[in-house]
Amino acid sequence: MKAPKFKKVTIYDYSHYEANMSNNGGSYGFWEVFEPVDHDQYDRSYHTTAEFEYCEFCGQFQRGDCGCGRCPEKVSEKEVLGLIKEANNDKSDEVYAEVEPWQLDLKKLRRRIEDHLRKTDNVSDLIFIANNVGVSISE
Ligand SMILES: [Zn+2]
Repeated sequence: MKAPKFKKVTIYDYSHYEANMSNNGGSYGFWEVFEPVDHDQYDRSYHTTAEFEYCEFCGQFQRGDCGCGRCPEKVSEKEVLGLIKEANNDKSDEVYAEVEPWQLDLKKLRRRIEDHLRKTDNVSDLIFIANNVGVSISE
């Protein structure tokens, strides 16, 4: 299984934002957050500077129930990459992407993998790993 590329991605759209009208004056900032839930699946959530009730699952201002079911939208990593690219191509300073990469502790990760490999007797796991890291399985 491939690991997700990003720990967190935030895409900001402040193109209609005005500081003195950003709470209830109609000129709000918006941002969307993408957090991985699987190797190629990110949950999308919506946020705003407005003080009104705003559904984080569908990004709509709501009076009562928005009717979206309040279930996070799943987005593929490819789609997230496309949204990052789109935001970065925007020439204004008002639309931009903030990308948080994984901070891996390689020493710890290597030790966990070594421990797992030492204890496993799952032959197909071992063959799979050998094939993926280029280790020969023939004598
Ligand atoms: Zn909703």
